[in-house]
Amino acid sequence: MLFGRGKKNPIKIADKKVVDWKYATCGYCSTGCSIEVGLNQQGDPVASRGVGGADVNRGKLCLKGIFEHELFTSAGRGTEPLMRDQFHEPFKPVDWDTALDHVYDEIVRVQEKYGRDSVAIVSTGQLLTEEFYTLGKLTRGLIGTNNYDGNTTLCMASAVSGYKRSFGSDGPPGCYEDFEQTDCLIAWGSNLPEQHPIIYWRMKDAQETRGFPLIVIDPRVTMLAQNADMHLAITPGTDVVLQNAMMHVILKEGLEDAAYIEANTNGLDELRAEVEKYDPTTAAPICGIDEDTIQNVARLFAKAGTAMQIWTMGINQSTHGSDGVVGINNLALITGNIGKPGGTSLSITGQCNAMGTREWSSCSGLPNHRYLENAEDREEMAQFWGIDPEFLPKKRGLFQTDIYPAIETGQIKGLWLIATNPLSSLPNTARIRKSMEKLEFCVVQDCYADTESAQYAHVFLPAGTWAEKEGVMTNTERRVNIVRPVIKPHGNSKPDLWIFNQMAKRFNKDGKVSFPEKPAEIFEEMGELSHGRLCDISGMTHELIEENRGIQWPYTKEQAERNEAPPQGGKRIYTESATFRYPDGRARLIPLPFIDNNEVPDDKFPFWLNTGRLIEHWHGRSKTGKLGNNNKYSPIPFFELNPDAAFDLDVQSGEYVRLVSRRSDAIVMAQLTHRVPKNMIFLPFHFHDCANRLTLGLLDPHSRQPAYKQSAVRIEKIADQKAAAQLSKEMRDY
Ligand code: SF4
Repeated sequence: MLFGRGKKNPIKIADKKVVDWKYATCGYCSTGCSIEVGLNQQGDPVASRGVGGADVNRGKLCLKGIFEHELFTSAGRGTEPLMRDQFHEPFKPVDWDTALDHVYDEIVRVQEKYGRDSVAIVSTGQLLTEEFYTLGKLTRGLIGTNNYDGNTTLCMASAVSGYKRSFGSDGPPGCYEDFEQTDCLIAWGSNLPEQHPIIYWRMKDAQETRGFPLIVIDPRVTMLAQNADMHLAITPGTDVVLQNAMMHVILKEGLEDAAYIEANTNGLDELRAEVEKYDPTTAAPICGIDEDTIQNVARLFAKAGTAMQIWTMGINQSTHGSDGVVGINNLALITGNIGKPGGTSLSITGQCNAMGTREWSSCSGLPNHRYLENAEDREEMAQFWGIDPEFLPKKRGLFQTDIYPAIETGQIKGLWLIATNPLSSLPNTARIRKSMEKLEFCVVQDCYADTESAQYAHVFLPAGTWAEKEGVMTNTERRVNIVRPVIKPHGNSKPDLWIFNQMAKRFNKDGKVSFPEKPAEIFEEMGELSHGRLCDISGMTHELIEENRGIQWPYTKEQAERNEAPPQGGKRIYTESATFRYPDGRARLIPLPFIDNNEVPDDKFPFWLNTGRLIEHWHGRSKTGKLGNNNKYSPIPFFELNPDAAFDLDVQSGEYVRLVSRRSDAIVMAQLTHRVPKNMIFLPFHFHDCANRLTLGLLDPHSRQPAYKQSAVRIEKIADQKAAAQLSKEMRDY
C-alpha cells in the first residue's frame, strides 16, 4: 500500500519569470559545463540551468554552477578605478584614463630605473582565451618583461611539465568519453565528486554501466575513495615510489606492451634499470602500500584491455609533481594506453580556463605551445606581431612562485596582478605579505575590490567577470567552448580585454603592433597562428563553437571546409604511431629516482597537514564565500581529525583548536572523522588566513609548483572557546 502517496505537497520551484536564456560556459572548474543564465523582464540574471544538448554536462550543473547567476552582484565587486600614493593610505576613485596613464607611467618608470624585468606580471586561469592572447602579445611584444606567469603554476604546472617531458608537448591526450570505454581506472590524488562533480557523474554513469574497477590512490578516504573498488591510502608525497614499484612488477612479469613500446618510445633500458631497484618489498614501507596490493594493482592495470589514469592536485601539488605525472605517463606508455579509446593519461585541470592560459597566454613561452628557447618560434611570432625578434627573451623568466622571493631580494620592484590573489593562494602567506610591502608599485586588476592582495595596490582596476564578457575557454578534454555576455560589467568596471587593449594603446604609440578589439577577430588571428600545429583551432569560429556546445581541438580549417556536421574535433591525440611531439615522434620513458625531501611529521609537529577542496567553495572563496547558497554549507574554517587522535588530545568535535606549523598558526574547528588516519589532518584551503598560514610549499624542481599537501603541524587546545570562535571568524571574514 502506498500510504499517503498523492497527498504530499510536491516540491515547488519558485517561478523566476525568466524571459530570456543566454548561453555561456561555467566559470568555475575545468569540467567546462554548458550553462544558460536566465534573465527576467528587467534584464536581471535570476536563474542558471545546464544545457541539455551539451556533450560535457548533458543538462546537469553542480552546486556552484546552479547559483552562478548570483555572483554578478555579489558583495565586494569593484565599481570604479582607484588610486593612492602609498598602499596604507585610503584609495580615491579616479577615471579610467587617469588610472591607466598612471599604470603606464609607473611601469615605464620602474623599467627605466631597474631594467625591463623589474616589473612582474602575474595572471590567472580565470580569463577568457582571447584575453590571455592579448595580454601575452602586450607583455611579450611591447612591455617586454620576462617575469610573466599565471597562477596556474599553483595548480597545473606539474601536469604541463610532465606532459612536455614525456610527450614533447603539453596537451591532455584523452577525453571524458574514455570513461565509457575503459576497462580499468586509476585515480591518483583526485577527488572527483567534490572537485569536478560533473566529470564524476560521467565516470560513475560509465562505471555503473560497464563495471570496470576503480582504484583510488589518496592518503585520505575521500568521497571518490569511498566509492572505489580499491583504496590505496598512500603516504603523502611518495606516488613515484608506488609508480616505480608497479612498473617493476609489470616489466618483471612481462606484462608490458612490447610492440607499442618498440614503435612509440625511447628509453626503456634506462627505465628498466631504475625500476629494478623498486621491488614491492622495498617500496611498501616507503609508500605505505603493502606488497601484495602493489602487485595486484600493477597486474590489474597491465592486463586490462584498456586502462586509464586521471589525476589532480594530489599529484601536481608535490615536490615530485612533475615526476609523478611522468610516472603516470610511463605506466601508460609501457602498457600501450595512450591515444586509444579508454586508454589514456588524463590530467583533470583546475580552473575553468587553465587550459586556455596553457595554450595562448605566452606565460611560459609563446602562443600555441611555442617556445622562447626555439629561435624559429621567436622569429615566427616576431614577424607575425611585427616586432623585433631580439626583443623576445631567449628563455622563460621567473615562475610565479619565484617572483615573490625576487621581490624580497629587490630584483622585482613593480607588480601587475590580474584576477589572482597570492595573499590567499600562495603558501606561507606571512612571507608573501612581507614581500608585497617592498613593492614600489603594484596594480591589482580584479572583479573584486576586497581581496587581500588589493590591500597592497597603488592602483586598482575593476574588471568584469565571467559572463559580463565574451570569449572562449578550453576545458580538461581540450574542448573550446564559448561565454557570451549575459549582462554588462558591474558599475564602471570593464572587460579585461578592454583594459589590455587600452594599455596596449599606451605602449604601442606608433601603432606597429595590431590589437584587434573584438573577441571574434582575435579568435580568428589565433586560428591563423594555430594552423598545422597540435592545438589547431583554425576550423572553429565563435558561432560554430556555440552551435555545437564546444568543439575539441584539433579542429582544422580543412575539416571545416569539408563541412563535417557536427564538427568532429580531436577526441584524442597521439592516436597514430610515433606522433608524439619530439622530433623523432617518439615519447620518452624517463627514469624517476626518488629522494624524500618533504617536511614530514616529527615529535614537535606530529601530524601531516593535507589540504584540499570542498564541493561548495571555489579557491579563496572570493566568489562562493559571498553567495548564500554556497557559503551556508561550509561557513566555518574546519579541519578533519581522526577520533583516536582527538581522544589522545582530549579534543571534542566542534571544538576550536590552534594548528601550529613552523610558519605560523591558525584557529580552526575540529570535525572528527575516520576519513583521515591518526597521524594526518585535512584542512580545506578555501578559508583565507587559514591553510596557507601553515603550509611550507617547497617547490617542484621542474614545474616550480608548491607542495601544498605535505607539511607538518601540531594541535594545541584552546581554553577560551568563545574568544577562539571570534578569532576564527575574524580570520575567515572578508
Ligand atoms: Fe561549473 Fe565545474 Fe560545477 Fe560544471 S562541474 S557546473 S564546470 S563548477
